[in-house]
Amino acid sequence: MFCSRCGSKLEPTSRFCSSCGAPVAMESPSYPPPFATGQLLRPRNNRMIAGVCAAFAQRYQWDVTIVRIITALICLSGAGALAYLIAWIIIPEEPYALPT
Ligand SMILES: [Zn+2]
Repeated sequence: MFCSRCGSKLEPTSRFCSSCGAPVAMESPSYPPPFATGQLLRPRNNRMIAGVCAAFAQRYQWDVTIVRIITALICLSGAGALAYLIAWIIIPEEPYALPT
C-alpha cells in the first residue's frame, strides 16, 4: 500500500505515513456481508423448499418456524401456493459465501 498524500510505500501495518505523517486510510474491516439486514435474499442453507420462508425470517428477524407455519396455512388456503411461487421467482438467491 502507498501513502495517499506523498506516495511513499507504507508497511501494511502502519497507520501513519513514515515520510509525511499523513494518517493512512484504513480499509474497512472485512467481515461477512450483512445478510441479516437490508435486502431480501433467499439463503442457500437453512431452507425447506426454496428458502422463501427463511428469506423473510432472516430479513425481518422472525422465527423461521413460525414463518413456515403461517406460509403452510396460507398455502392450504389456496392462493398462498401461487404467492410462494411468485416469491420464489422474485426474491434473489443469496450469493455464494466466498472462502475467507
Ligand atoms: Zn506520506
